[in-house]
Amino acid sequence: MRLVLIGPPGAGKGTQAAILSAELGIPHLSTGELFRTHVAHHTPLGRQAKEYLDAGALVPDRITNDMVRERLAEPDAQAGFLLDGFPRNVTQADVLAELLAADGHVLDAALEFDVPDDVVVTRLLSRGRPDDAEEVIRHRQQVYRSQTAPLLTHYADLLRTIHAVGSVEEITERVLEALKVIARAPK
Ligand code: AMP
Repeated sequence: MRLVLIGPPGAGKGTQAAILSAELGIPHLSTGELFRTHVAHHTPLGRQAKEYLDAGALVPDRITNDMVRERLAEPDAQAGFLLDGFPRNVTQADVLAELLAADGHVLDAALEFDVPDDVVVTRLLSRGRPDDAEEVIRHRQQVYRSQTAPLLTHYADLLRTIHAVGSVEEITERVLEALKVIARAPK
């Protein structure tokens, strides 16, 4: 299965992606994690990306797309993947579609994690990541609304909206239910 996860910062995408990765036997590819690893190891890519992560801004598409292209070419991603944090705008979605089409593949679903703002702020403030300071959170929410939320329309045909308030287990169940529906749907 080839899935993308969409939702505001703090929606629980990363937590669910890690669980679903084990359930579905496909790798969890998080662009935020990839960037954070590069930053931690002071690689050239990490040095380029750091200022954007610190500000809660999107890393430029060229840098991000190149990183994703390389990651998707690795053997473990050939049979499917859960993309967490990519695409973040319509340009990235177009690049993803082209990458997949080159191998004769398509996305199976776009999972939207739907949560109210007050829930995400509480979750983010308890997480303690360096880009979880309150003003950076606000900026990331704004970036989500202006750049990422348009993907919900872009992926209208593939969209499965998950009510993402509740326990981790409840939300996993809802996702698996939504995916069963997809698995049964005629192509
Ligand atoms: P995340 O872990 O998904 O919350 O991402 C953390 C940070 O990494 C974001 O605030 C951006 O600075 C950067 N980032 C992650 N994914 C992308 C992407 N697809 N495009 C641009 N920047 C990204």
